[in-house]
Amino acid sequence: MTSRGADERRPDLVVRSRRVVLPGGQAPAAVAVRDGRITGLHPHDAPPDAAERVDLGDVALLPGLVDTHVHVNEPGRTHWEGFASATRAAAAGGVTTIVDMPLNSLPPTVDVAALDVKRRAAGGRCAVDVGFWGGAVPGNAAALRPLHEAGVFGFKCFLSPSGVEEFPPLDDAGLRRAMAEIASFDGLLVVHAEDPALLADPAGPGYADFLGSRPGEAERRAVERVVTLAGETGARVHILHVSSALCLEPLAAARARGVRVTAETCPHYLTLTAEEVPPGGTAFKCCPPIRSAANRDALWRGLAEGVLSCVVSDHSPSTPDLKMPDFARAWGGVSSLQLGLSVVWTEAARRGYGLEHVVRWMAAGPAALAGLTRKGAIEAGRDADLVAFDPDAEHTVDAAALHHRNPVTPYHGRTLRGTVRATWLRGRLTDAGPDGEPGGVLLRRPAPERAEPGPLEQAEPGPSIRERAELGPGAPEPGEPEPSRPEPSAARPCTPSRPGTGRTPA
Ligand SMILES: [Zn+2]
Repeated sequence: MTSRGADERRPDLVVRSRRVVLPGGQAPAAVAVRDGRITGLHPHDAPPDAAERVDLGDVALLPGLVDTHVHVNEPGRTHWEGFASATRAAAAGGVTTIVDMPLNSLPPTVDVAALDVKRRAAGGRCAVDVGFWGGAVPGNAAALRPLHEAGVFGFKCFLSPSGVEEFPPLDDAGLRRAMAEIASFDGLLVVHAEDPALLADPAGPGYADFLGSRPGEAERRAVERVVTLAGETGARVHILHVSSALCLEPLAAARARGVRVTAETCPHYLTLTAEEVPPGGTAFKCCPPIRSAANRDALWRGLAEGVLSCVVSDHSPSTPDLKMPDFARAWGGVSSLQLGLSVVWTEAARRGYGLEHVVRWMAAGPAALAGLTRKGAIEAGRDADLVAFDPDAEHTVDAAALHHRNPVTPYHGRTLRGTVRATWLRGRLTDAGPDGEPGGVLLRRPAPERAEPGPLEQAEPGPSIRERAELGPGAPEPGEPEPSRPEPSAARPCTPSRPGTGRTPA
């Protein structure tokens, strides 16, 4: 038996596993790959002949994760993180596609010239596929359509200070203008949603002071403003890094009345709690902040109910000196790109979820958000981005051993469940070592079909689904990879701004 729509020519590669995580659940299968694409699924006990055959046994085979929230920081702050180090970390962590945020690099990606600078910086250096968000800042509404046409996946904006002065927030009028412009070409606005009127400078250097300065109510109020304006303008919007469970009710209500809004949360909000942040442990500082254990549990319910559809890293590293042990002054950002899969799986398994849920939140959901129809699932026609993941193997995190440029992460010393054994990018094994050949390409937003939010998908915890998934009929609309080629970096000299004072978001 071969699947419908399958390419019957001899595969380059066949990977077998008794636990292939398919869109419909887990099943034993043999995944055939040719020319970088998945050509079909075959019975586990009757794999086709192929140039190379890999048998993973009980090690699971997952689609490569898609992380739509990564701050690479190159050019300009490459000493915080760069394309080479970030994408090696991604590959080692089972992430085969990242979409880079428009701020913290210099220049910020707020016009086509800046996007070209960033593409030149990234070209030839990436171990995984890389796309780009543009930025919506005061005064650049006229630059949004050209950026859209140049292939960015959407636009990020802040409502409160971003932490870097070159990426200012939008006020109400600016937000409305950006949404109207983005709606005119059916683009996507992704929003850091905290209401600046409800933020304050921390009263002291401790974590409680910092947490008190950024209440969940600031998130809720900002979400309400965004969904109201989205309803009025028709813009498609996405709420970044939901930290407070107070956001869930207004998000669900907006979707119920037809507002085109989706939302994400991050591994640190799902697994870490304010109660466990150690004194001076500013590796835990991010904006919005990590909150109470009860809030964390409510976020899991938000995922289960489908109000939150993506779990992405918000990897926002800095050099260790900017993580001084003062929560009021330290850089706000959690570094976790390489660890997200194990971190989330450790907690998801404890709560009774299966790998198919993790894949939905960390691969299929983000791929749908960005319209990456060739990514995010093991399905005929999609890119052969595959991850061998041993779900039961434990490992203890050593920050210095990660591929991140700087050895700062709140997960240092934690024992996590689940280990990535191998990662294939479009059918080729990635090599996360410093001498590995970077095989990633730079992605442009696929045209023209757009992923819609759709009805809420429920995700009840429970035993893994063991049915064989029905296969789709062949190749989906391709994205438009452009060849990744080394080019001279157009990086400006590094001119990091000073760390902010309590308003330093990720
Ligand atoms: Zn961020």
